[in-house]
Amino acid sequence: MNLLRLIAIALVIWLLVRLIQRYRAKNRLTKSCSTKGNLGVMVECAYCKLHIPRQEAVKRDQKFYCSRQHAAKDRD
Ligand SMILES: [Zn+2]
Repeated sequence: MNLLRLIAIALVIWLLVRLIQRYRAKNRLTKSCSTKGNLGVMVECAYCKLHIPRQEAVKRDQKFYCSRQHAAKDRD
């Protein structure tokens, strides 16, 4: 009977681990999805060709720039 109890406990632990893993995987998936929308996309500065995250880029006339200075310089 001791062995049966051991198997039952092992089964419960295994189920818990599976549940936690699935929960973590789900969290990671949604997290990576949201970061992909913000940080994942890299854009090139139209002036100095530097690559910067899209959310940090300065957008002007359908072009991206690493800074406002470069956006202003490219316009001249
Ligand atoms: Zn630049």
